[in-house]
Amino acid sequence: MPLFDFACRSCGHEFEALVRGETRPVCPACRSEDLERLPSLPSVRSESTRAQAMKAARRRDAKQAAERDHAQRLYEASHDD
Ligand SMILES: [Zn+2]
Repeated sequence: MPLFDFACRSCGHEFEALVRGETRPVCPACRSEDLERLPSLPSVRSESTRAQAMKAARRRDAKQAAERDHAQRLYEASHDD
């Protein structure tokens, strides 16, 4: 099912719409067709998806920081003079 997230350039409303073939969605808030398609996400509530993406990014940053610390300790251990 081609379900996409859109952001309306006229009023900023964000919504999900099914897109089939040549059908173009319109903003449910202001009926504008001037829409921006947001990067496709799994068809779950976009709020929780964004929260999960934030959490994943924080986990990734924490992992990278841990790897940097580990590398620094290895460097210090092998240059212990
Ligand atoms: Zn709108």
